[in-house]
Amino acid sequence: MRKPFIAGNWKMNKSVAETRDYITAFLPLVKGAEAEIALCVPYTNLYAAAEMLKGTNVILGAQNIAWANKGAFTGEISAPMLLDAGASCVIIGHSERREMFGDTDRTVNMRLDAALKNGLTPILCVGETERERAQYKTKAVIKKQIIAAFENISAADAVKVIVAYEPIWAIGTGRTATPDDAELTCAYIRKRIGAKYSETAGAAIRILYGGSMNPQNAQDLMLRSNIDGGLIGGASLIPEDFVKVVKYNGV
Ligand code: PEP
Repeated sequence: MRKPFIAGNWKMNKSVAETRDYITAFLPLVKGAEAEIALCVPYTNLYAAAEMLKGTNVILGAQNIAWANKGAFTGEISAPMLLDAGASCVIIGHSERREMFGDTDRTVNMRLDAALKNGLTPILCVGETERERAQYKTKAVIKKQIIAAFENISAADAVKVIVAYEPIWAIGTGRTATPDDAELTCAYIRKRIGAKYSETAGAAIRILYGGSMNPQNAQDLMLRSNIDGGLIGGASLIPEDFVKVVKYNGV
């Protein structure tokens, strides 16, 4: 049985003070929630957030990770540093990093490997552009991204990865994939993992949908059998909104 996983991606939003205010409001709202919950905050807010989340049912995540553990990598933050700051999961290969900051299938694979080797749970993002979708290339794009991301990753590690299917045209646009389309692509990702590793691995890995998920559409998406939760950007920024996504099924 796969436990639902709901992660907020704050992107480049919130000061330390705003982070503290958010967590103060959020924790009582989600106490006892059924889903596993993560807040992926900017690096500068990790430490303060970690102090408040210790011993709660909300885990802490970052939004990127270096592929090396230390050294001459100006501007990068390594897995040991993330762990030291209190993170236990990390978003890898978000389309904004692929599009604007030069991440490639190869660097995504290296970052994924670094996260796994250090015991961080990776939230691996894959997804097609609007143009690729219009050309019916969604499956081909997803297949290429999945094959590259999991290269040289063992079966034991692969099942620790959480895959987020995020159609790029749906991110921050208010346009959500239909539950049928999202389900089809998530099922395809599961099939690819099953083909590479084993049916058991395919059945075990958690797959999220991301892209303009909000309190109104969350339930329809997450009740689909191959969608195990969500990666939520805009709708995770206000505690009272995000809790409605977290409790999409009323619990
Ligand atoms: C995201 O950034 O991963 C995302 C899904 O954003 P939004 O929910 O705002 O579309």
